[in-house]
Amino acid sequence: QNKFDLIIIGGGPIGIACALEAKKKNLSYLILEKGCLVNSLYHYPTNMTFFSTSEKLELDNIPFISNNPKPGKREALEYYRRIATNNRININLFEKVTKVSSDSGDYHKVTTGKAEYISDNVIVATGFYDIPNYLEVPGEDLPKVSHYYNDPHYYATQKTLVVGASNSAVDAALEIYRKGGDVTMIVRKPEIGERVKYWVRPDIINRIEEGSIKAYFNSSLKEIRDTEVVIDTPEGEDVLDNDFVLLLTGYRPNFEFLKNMGIDLSEDGRKIPEYNEDTMETNVPGIFLAGVICGGVETHKWFIENSRIHAKLIMDHISSKTKVS
Ligand code: FAD
Repeated sequence: QNKFDLIIIGGGPIGIACALEAKKKNLSYLILEKGCLVNSLYHYPTNMTFFSTSEKLELDNIPFISNNPKPGKREALEYYRRIATNNRININLFEKVTKVSSDSGDYHKVTTGKAEYISDNVIVATGFYDIPNYLEVPGEDLPKVSHYYNDPHYYATQKTLVVGASNSAVDAALEIYRKGGDVTMIVRKPEIGERVKYWVRPDIINRIEEGSIKAYFNSSLKEIRDTEVVIDTPEGEDVLDNDFVLLLTGYRPNFEFLKNMGIDLSEDGRKIPEYNEDTMETNVPGIFLAGVICGGVETHKWFIENSRIHAKLIMDHISSKTKVS
């Protein structure tokens, strides 16, 4: 019962896309997901709006109907959940994969916290949202510090430092400011990130220019203390009163997980996993990559629109070499 043609690690949008394709090819498959269904998405900020329009988030041409051109988190949860339940996707939730070993050569052994499985093929679709880019500054582990932002209400009236200048940092800064938080941004570069959503960028720039949100550019966070933070600015070191710190400096794939299953990573600093672009097969035969995990540290490269195709590439390849029973 624990033997499959295919095990998919990760029940995000792309893991689900792989399951839909596997079903079409009559392959026996199982998705193993360490959290809830579309776990990364579930943990996105409450009020987040996708930068993609709804049709670009669609899987297998199943219409994603949204009242707005760019759907929000709630609508996306609804959409992907309905796809998974309507299609009776075979998925085990809250079951984390801890190890994949391919010693036998013929099959892969997939170990989770609950069971062991044997599979001819494995797809790694684990995304990049589990591991934050840590700043490694003193005080980063204090309870008032978070690498994830959820809801602005929590920060109302509080002196909140937001580190970063990409979409997540900018969204958080604007929302918290609008719910009465006292927001200061620390930005490493001389300006707000180029990739910030084009309809949001002018908003943050104007709020900074009018002084509603304070921002230190070309600056970095040096230390976090219980009631203050120490920052490095072009004018020298400064100490600010502080209640909460949001370190929204991006996330990275779990490279150790990939390395432990034998997948090679590029050594140019980008840590791009090795895979064949036509089949998505890695340097370990029978182990494939799908979704945003393919970008290494360049997590902006892949998104749903341009990675949902991975599902079909992989399944065409697997079904061409698998004798379906
Ligand atoms: P994920 O959705 O991250 O799914 C990976 C899954 O693997 C997770 O559910 C995780 O819990 C699970 N997992 C990880 N490790 C294990 C393990 N060891 N065992 C079992 N399960 C595991 N993309 C867009 O296309 N459009 C957008 O507008 C957009 N907006 C975004 C906004 C934010 C705030 C963020 C953070 C990302 C956004 N993205 C957007 C990128 C988005 O993350 C991806 O496009 C999408 O989630 C990729 O799907 P995925 O299936 O590859 O990865």
